[in-house]
Amino acid sequence: MNKQLRKAVIAGNWKMNKTPAEATELLGNIVPLVKDAKVEVIACVPYVDLYAALEATKGTNVKIGAENCHWAKSGAFTGEISADMLAAVGVNYVIIGHSERRQYFGETDKTVNMRTRAALDAGLTVILCVGEYLEQREQGVTAEVVSSQTKIALQGVSEDELSRIIIAYEPVWAIGTGKTATAQQANEVCALIRKVIADLYSKEAADGITIQYGGSMNAKNAEELLDQPDVDGGLIGGASLKAEDFSVIVKAADR
Ligand code: PEP
Repeated sequence: MNKQLRKAVIAGNWKMNKTPAEATELLGNIVPLVKDAKVEVIACVPYVDLYAALEATKGTNVKIGAENCHWAKSGAFTGEISADMLAAVGVNYVIIGHSERRQYFGETDKTVNMRTRAALDAGLTVILCVGEYLEQREQGVTAEVVSSQTKIALQGVSEDELSRIIIAYEPVWAIGTGKTATAQQANEVCALIRKVIADLYSKEAADGITIQYGGSMNAKNAEELLDQPDVDGGLIGGASLKAEDFSVIVKAADR
């Protein structure tokens, strides 16, 4: 299937940055710069910024997402936020399985699957992150790692629900390091993930799913990465905190 027929998505992951007032200011700068974008533009922000971010983007083409959610609907999970809570405040997107969550907060493929399931049940669209460590790439097991992360995360997810799944291939060694995967490496793994989807579901499902690359994507390298046939967008960390740089990436995806 022609890549042009898939939904291209550029999403920012603000991580633990920006107060509500700063979020309002940053989005106030981003909104006019991306107002004519044909691709989908999302900013995933810290929980406390959600209200301010939704307010700052009301009536615009910039959508707001959260950076995680818990799998339970409610209960004794101090410090956690449920998918239903996110839906209730008007959020439509949520990042699940980011490597920083897996690395620093003990998230596993199993909990990534549970969170994914909860987010889908709440009506959210999931940006599902998968990716290998440098050591795994050097050991030649990238395909196995990324395939099993994808398969486990999608257990119990129907083909119809895939319309609310975006997969972000994020090699851990490229996140926040300034070390980007080459366009060829990025495309190779995005294509592999597409093959996993074809095997799990169908060729139509694989042709239709949006697969992003993430890992030190910036205003300079975005065009080459986004030109790849299997790279349908980007999940952007550091560069999403600079309105001008983020808008250059959006424009590169728009081409
Ligand atoms: C991310 O946090 O998902 C990410 C890709 O970060 P960075 O762009 O800073 O590498």
